Amino acid sequence: MTVKTMQLFDTHCHIDFEHFDDDRGDVFERMQEAGVTRIVAVAVELEQTSRLIKLVESRDGVWFSVGAHPNHEMVNEPTVEQLCELAEHKKCVAIGETGMDFFRTHVDPAIQEQRFRTHIRAAHAVNKPVIVHMREADETTLRILKEENIAGCGGIMHCFSSNWEAASQALDMGMSISFSGNVTFKRNDELRAVAAKVPEKSLLIETDSPYLAPVPKRGKRNEPTFVKHVAQCVANVRQIPVQELVEITTANAMRRFQLI
Ligand SMILES: [Zn+2]
Ligand SMILES: [Zn+2]
Repeated sequence: MTVKTMQLFDTHCHIDFEHFDDDRGDVFERMQEAGVTRIVAVAVELEQTSRLIKLVESRDGVWFSVGAHPNHEMVNEPTVEQLCELAEHKKCVAIGETGMDFFRTHVDPAIQEQRFRTHIRAAHAVNKPVIVHMREADETTLRILKEENIAGCGGIMHCFSSNWEAASQALDMGMSISFSGNVTFKRNDELRAVAAKVPEKSLLIETDSPYLAPVPKRGKRNEPTFVKHVAQCVANVRQIPVQELVEITTANAMRRFQLI
């Protein structure tokens, strides 16, 4: 396995966060060395958009999304028009992250739901995929995806952490399933079983860095380079060479983000 052949795609990271302010250049350098040639820097608030644009405009292989996280407290809720306008930039490849999060409810569930629907409607309008954050809210999230006809624009179940039942419902709606560092955690046998079962064409990998560093980096600050550990773990459970897993997931990501 050489650096040249790797070509990993981290479909979800937060590289613009302050966690990387002191050494962002080094983080990008390590990425290149590890063969992580493509990433999407995902938004959690609208105010972040100009910062993300600055980040992606000076670099190849870096794209961004526009959206507000379900648990991000905001004074004015985003509108469809506002999201569409911010998503006009040619390197904006997705809407989100959005979704439902009942693990932490800084934002009232009814407001989360309305915000989620607004994001999906904007995604339809600009024909871009939705990055979906679903935490302890499977039933509600999947119901809203169905009601808002997510199949029309498609999307990604990011940092997937639920069971096969939820995965298969999402797959039936044409969603991609993205696995993050927690798929490597010792206790997560059930999640690894899901990762073994997801159809090849729907499989993605990510870091969600700076959070959720995979084994053997668990507990440290995560960074896009570590997506290679997620790739290795998922390749192991699918019993295929890691290079094959990388080729599959990178091609899937390119298709999902309409880059090919
Ligand atoms: Zn998330
Ligand atoms: Zn995230």
